[in-house]
Formats: sequence, structure tokens, C-alpha cells
Amino acid sequence: EAIRVSDMAHQMGVKAQALIKVLLGLGVMATINQSLDLDTASLVASEFGYEVEKVGFSEDTYIAPREEDKPESLKGRPPVVTIMGHVDHGKTSLLDAIRESNITGGEAGGITQHIGAYHVLTPRGEVVFLDTPGHEAFTAMRARGAQVTDIVVLVVAADDGVMDQTREAVNHSRAAGVPIVVAVNKMDKEGADPDRVKRELADLGLLPEDWGGETIYAHVSAKQHTGLDELLEMIVLQSEVLELKANPDKPARGHIVEARLDKGRGAVATVLIQEGTLHQGDPFVCGLFSGRVRALFNDKGEKVDTAGPAMPVEVQGFEGVPEAGDEFVGVEDDKVARRIAESRQLKQREKELAKESKITLETFLAQKAEGEAQILNLVIKSDVQGSLEAVSEALAKLSTDEVKVNVIHGGTGAITESDILLASASEAVIIGFNVRPSAKVKDIAEQEKVDIRFYDIIYKLVSDIKDALSGMLAPEV
Ligand code: GDP
Repeated sequence: EAIRVSDMAHQMGVKAQALIKVLLGLGVMATINQSLDLDTASLVASEFGYEVEKVGFSEDTYIAPREEDKPESLKGRPPVVTIMGHVDHGKTSLLDAIRESNITGGEAGGITQHIGAYHVLTPRGEVVFLDTPGHEAFTAMRARGAQVTDIVVLVVAADDGVMDQTREAVNHSRAAGVPIVVAVNKMDKEGADPDRVKRELADLGLLPEDWGGETIYAHVSAKQHTGLDELLEMIVLQSEVLELKANPDKPARGHIVEARLDKGRGAVATVLIQEGTLHQGDPFVCGLFSGRVRALFNDKGEKVDTAGPAMPVEVQGFEGVPEAGDEFVGVEDDKVARRIAESRQLKQREKELAKESKITLETFLAQKAEGEAQILNLVIKSDVQGSLEAVSEALAKLSTDEVKVNVIHGGTGAITESDILLASASEAVIIGFNVRPSAKVKDIAEQEKVDIRFYDIIYKLVSDIKDALSGMLAPEV
């Protein structure tokens, strides 16, 4: 973290020249535009009777906080639809059928580009479909903070009725507060019984409109391409109720629908723009990466210059491959974009480091569950040789076929810095039996995130380790 001489002078209410003079006195030649590191800044500040407080880098300084859009700036936007339903009820077939039916003569050859989402034009307006059906993908996105779906189309096979995943889909949609339009599929099949589907769904609270409820039903056959126009109309109808709007006249914001590494083109990702407009050349931040829009392609593989709300576009120009669900934010300039991405990567690394090196008795089994540690590594320090042997023996007996106690180091005397480093490198927990570390060593342990436990009764030690091996040691909060 650095601060410019001029900014610092301003904040302290002194002349920049006075500050530069003090710097000179400290042996630092500085100009008014130069940046000072934290140590130097602190030194200078103390000369003026100030203290430097280290504040973390904040994205909010660079990404404008989300402001309420003025009502007059809002324009209607198409609904974004996710298709859900039980396996084999026709989700994929329906997505394909709608896509194919909407290839007009002008796009002869029927070339469509699979970019993770597509849009169709209906007489009453546009509808955007996400290409990954199912409630798992939907909820995974939501868990990452990405709510992109406006309407769920619940596909139920007319010859099969409500099944397990139909119920799950209903619950997941409800949990997200997303309205459901029902597509009763496979109407061409013998034994199709749409009334049964309605009855079963009514039991789940999806009472059809013609029975006095509010849920819209459409009868379709994905196979024979029947009822598709009606379904689309119903979706538009439902979206009109929702009054979906967005402000197109500001920097773009959206979420990643799909991302991959392309051999020739580098990292490419499909962004579903949710507000604002994305232009070719715009700098952006997305997940851990920055970038600049090199090229935009629509779902027909055509190059476009801009993309507005609810439009899925494939974007080229990412510095790295983002993840589905990552937020995409257009920013003012490249420098800002890079700065934000750097800060995010740093934070991520810190998080990973913190996670990796910290093995505690409480987390040992949780780590094991992820297939990492089957072996509890211990470093044991004890006051005298006799107790060291007694402790080591007692602990060795606790090993089972599934979890093993492995004393990687045992010794007498105080816990030292090298004990900590060994434990850190080997993901071990340190046991101090009748010994204590010095304050300095304690600090290092904290830095290295090494867990040290102290005991003076063998019985208590053995019982704790036993609990840790069986996952019974309640995590400390
Ligand atoms: P998903 O698992 O929900 O994506 O279901 P699919 O789209 O893969 O369809 C499962 C099976 O049902 C496939 O064999 C489809 O050909 C068939 N199928 C899908 N829609 C219809 C339909 O409207 N009528 C008939 N007869 N079969 C269909």
C-alpha cells in the first residue's frame, strides 16, 4: 500500500514542501508525485504528530456503488428463463426445439452458436434461455450470488407426471422466489394425461389458472414442435407481470454463464448482461481477472459492437478464465481493472494459504473427509524423557485402520521455532506436555497458523486425541 506525497500532505493539512523537507531529513529524496511506502509514511507522519492507519484497498473507491436508477432511466428488458424438471422429461429437447423453431429463413443453414444462452424473438417480445437446464446449475449459480433467472419453465412429461426432481425443482425455484411456468411435455405420447399433471402440481401449490389459480400451463411436444409458440407467449405474459426493467445507459454489469479456454482466442466467456451496456473496448473486472473487451459475439456467432440488458454475449479479452456465476463489472479504465483484480487475487491467495496450512485437532477430520489427511501428524515436546515415552506410546495405541497418529517428532525441552516450522511444513499439530513456548515462538506459531495444545495430564491428552480422530471434538468458534 502506498500514498502519494501530495495526498499525504493534504490529509495532514501541511504543505507538500514541508513534507518533502522532512523526507530529506530522513534521507529520502522525494517529489510531490512520488508514492511513499507504509514504513516511510509512518515515519514522516509521526514527525507531524500523526499516525498512519493502514486501510485495506477498497474496490468501492473504484467501482461506483450501485445507485437506485431513476424511474425514467429504466427500460423494459426480456426475461431470462431456466428450464427445469425431472430427468428425461424433455428439458434438453425443449431447449433445442425452441432454438430450432426460431431459426428464420434468413439464417439458412440453421447455424447457431452454443454460447450457454440464446434469445428468441416472439411476436410479443424477446425471451432469453439459459442453456444449462436443471435446478443444480441454477442453485449453484445462486450460491455464488448470481441470480440471473427471472422465470423457471418446469417441464413435466404428460405420461409420467410429477417425480422427485420435479418436486426439487419447485422447491429450488420457490427458495429463489422465481415464478414457474409449467410446460406439460410429450403431449404426442399415448397415455399423455395433462390433467393428472395439473392435479399433482396443484398439490404442490401450483394451481392452474383455469382452476382458479395463478400458475400458467402450456401443453407442448418438444418432439413434434407443437405448442412452442403458445409456451413462448405464456412466458412473455408472465414476464409482463414481473415488469422487468433495467437501465441500459451505464457501465455494464452481469454474470458469467459459461467460460472456457479457447486455443486460438484465449479465455472466452459468455456474459449475461443485467444492466448497463457493454461496448467493444470496455475495460472490466470479473471474478479474479481483469480484461478489456476485444470482441463481442452474439448467440448466432455474429460480431456485435454492444450488448445491453438481458443479452447473452460471448466476450473475448479476459486475462484468465472466470467461473460460471462470477460477477462481471465494467469499469472506467484498464488500470483500475487491473488494480481490483490484483487485490482480489491477493485476497484469494491469503484465503487459500490460511486454509491450507491450518490443521487443528478440530478440523483434522473435516480435512480428512476431503481426502486430504488420513494421518494426524503430531510434534510432541515434553519436560522429561520418561513422560515423552509414555505419551508417545499412549497415542500410538489410538491408531485405527482409517486414521493414524503419526508422531513426526518427539523431544524434550521447550517448544522452539524449528518445532513450529516443522509442524507448519508437515501440517502437524504440536503437543506440549508440561512445557510452554516463549512469547516469540507463540507469535511464530500464530503466523504459521500452527495449532499448539498444552497438557499436563496424560489421560486428558489421550481423550482429546481420541475425540479428534473420531471427529467428536467440537470446533471452537
Ligand atoms: P432431459 O433429461 O429432461 O433433458 O430430457 P431429454 O430432452 O433428453 O429427453 C428425454 C427423452 O424423451 C428423449 O429420448 C427425447 O427424445 C424424449 N422426448 C423429449 N420430448 C419429447 C416429446 O415431446 N415427445 C416424445 N414422444 N418424446 C420426447
